[in-house]
Amino acid sequence: MRCPGCGADDDRVVDSRPASAGDAIRRRRECRACGLRFTTFERIELPELLVRKRSGIVRAFSRQKVLDGMAGAAKGRIPMEALEAAAAAVERLIRDEHEHEVSSEQVGLQVLAQLRELDPVVYVRFASVYRDFQGPEDFEQELSRLAKSPVPRRLAKDAPPKRPPGDAA
Ligand SMILES: [Zn+2]
Repeated sequence: MRCPGCGADDDRVVDSRPASAGDAIRRRRECRACGLRFTTFERIELPELLVRKRSGIVRAFSRQKVLDGMAGAAKGRIPMEALEAAAAAVERLIRDEHEHEVSSEQVGLQVLAQLRELDPVVYVRFASVYRDFQGPEDFEQELSRLAKSPVPRRLAKDAPPKRPPGDAA
């Protein structure tokens, strides 16, 4: 940290304590060159929406990552325009329900709901990775479940968006 007195970039921390009810750390520093003492604050910079993975790792939500995941499962079966609309719908639905943090499972479930609307083959392909299918019987189970349950409403196309697409940031 550059000294506000002499401009030297050589200080030591003489005191360090929580501030703002634990949301920040206040550090008292002393310049080694001129002896001036000054204070710095360290704060956590929160991205708008966090995704917590099963491992506990937390990352900023990325619509592009959602889109990449869906495009990878689609392998050209779904037009990019439809995938982009689906990724936007995933983000919109998540932000409606989760203010700061969402689990990767919840993101995956929203992706599944969208893919199910668009293409059953891609849906099963994505589900096989997402639900960690172990063998052919898992596919059969998923397909029979798909056949039995009613087709949900078309979230991506018919549901009126609460915000204009792309306006979520
Ligand atoms: Zn100094």
